[in-house]
Amino acid sequence: MTAPDRKNRVVIVGGGFGGVYTAAALEKATASAEDTDITLISRDNYLLITPLLFEAGSGILDPRHTVCPIRQLLNRTRFIMADVTHLDIESRHVEAVHQPGGQRYHVEYDQLVLAVGGVTNRAIIPGSEHAMAFKTLADAIALRNRIIDAFEQADVESDPARKKQLLTFVIIGAGLVGVELVGELTEFLSNICGTYQHIRYEEVKVLVCEAGATFLKEMPQGQAAFAQNVLEKRGVEIRVSTPVAKISPDGITLKDQTFIPTNLTLLCAGLAAHPLLKDLPVPKQHGRIAVQPTMRCQERPEIWAIGDCAWIPDPQGKPYPQLAQHALREARVLADNICRSRRGESLVPFDYKSMGTLAALGHYNGIGRVMKLQVRGFIAWWVWRTYYLSQMPRWSRRLRLVIDWTVGLFFHNDVVKLDMNSNPGAELKEDDPDAGD
Ligand SMILES: Cc1cc2nc3c(=O)[nH]c(=O)nc-3n(C[C@H](O)[C@H](O)[C@H](O)COP(=O)(O)OP(=O)(O)OC[C@H]3O[C@@H](n4cnc5c(N)ncnc54)[C@H](O)[C@@H]3O)c2cc1C
Repeated sequence: MTAPDRKNRVVIVGGGFGGVYTAAALEKATASAEDTDITLISRDNYLLITPLLFEAGSGILDPRHTVCPIRQLLNRTRFIMADVTHLDIESRHVEAVHQPGGQRYHVEYDQLVLAVGGVTNRAIIPGSEHAMAFKTLADAIALRNRIIDAFEQADVESDPARKKQLLTFVIIGAGLVGVELVGELTEFLSNICGTYQHIRYEEVKVLVCEAGATFLKEMPQGQAAFAQNVLEKRGVEIRVSTPVAKISPDGITLKDQTFIPTNLTLLCAGLAAHPLLKDLPVPKQHGRIAVQPTMRCQERPEIWAIGDCAWIPDPQGKPYPQLAQHALREARVLADNICRSRRGESLVPFDYKSMGTLAALGHYNGIGRVMKLQVRGFIAWWVWRTYYLSQMPRWSRRLRLVIDWTVGLFFHNDVVKLDMNSNPGAELKEDDPDAGD
């Protein structure tokens, strides 16, 4: 066996909180031994700080400032920007393809860490393909574009019914993501109204439909009631116990057959398991990889799973929630366990009690629980912002956030629609007879 082959080849799939922090922790843990080759494969070359996505969607933050380039976070890890298309756990290799371009990669491993997260759950409501998701940076940019597009049309629309449809925004799901999104949306919508001569904020309708009986069930009752009150005062209509039966391009149909015309439906109804894991012959719970508390797969000890794609039991046997604050802590334990397994030592279970949850509601308002303390209003919003500022890796990137937030204090959101449908050469083809076919 040659020297490089004796190294432990760890391949991590997914560059979110789970994957990037595992690679970083492994780099640290193996710095002196240098007996580990770390490869991280992810679709994008950046780590998205998801709690900041709401403000990227409203344009308060430049979308690029809500991410951190993966290459700046890792030193020794080999990073491959590619979409993983196949996991072959028998021959222990991963297949990936670079998009666009089609360059293919075949990467062999000794240890595989799955950190691919989840996907927006489009299986519950028929017609969900007509709804927008809110999970990626592209989703945030697309959402802002779609809202501005609706306002541009509504401003010159003479048919009142069509105008009403254009200015109706439906959010399905009143969990943390849905509620934070609505909070930020109301701030954005009220801000941009001033730019449009023929639109008053009273004409804008934001409707939240929650199938369950509880609004914001992740938060204590008092906090949820406070958030509901804040949003309702801003004109948001919140309907609980209101399942949506169907989504179509021009509206939603409720279970009682009421049709609500809208051009924009946002799906915030939870996560589904990542399709890459579907045919993987390992134990699963609700499509997520069911691992031991050490994050190792019992049947395939060379496979580990972390974050949203993993079902990690807590000491009571319940799965840990799919949250960033858990994923990045799981990463440290997982990296340590990979090193321990290499040395033949016993592994450590992941055991973490959440220190709290914070949610921003826009307009300098928020709610939260920090340890036993419940906070609400400006103080909760301020703690939220300060906490996530501290979570952004590197000072240079934190500074960009501070600048964006400071600018946001003094100026209204702008309404420039970013064109994402670049088609170079389209004009040439139409106009230029010499351009060829
Ligand atoms: C809008 C929003 C706000 C949130 N706010 C909070 C919050 O305030 N606090 C909190 O604790 N949690 C929050 N969360 C949840 C948190 O973001 C997730 O729990 C966390 O990101 C999970 O990390 P992960 O690494 O498991 O998955 P992800 O962060 O989803 O990362 C998965 C990575 O895998 C990559 N990937 C997926 N498929 C492939 C493939 N086939 N090939 C290559 N790469 C692939 C993706 O591009 C991504 O980089 C929020 C989530 C959202 C969507």
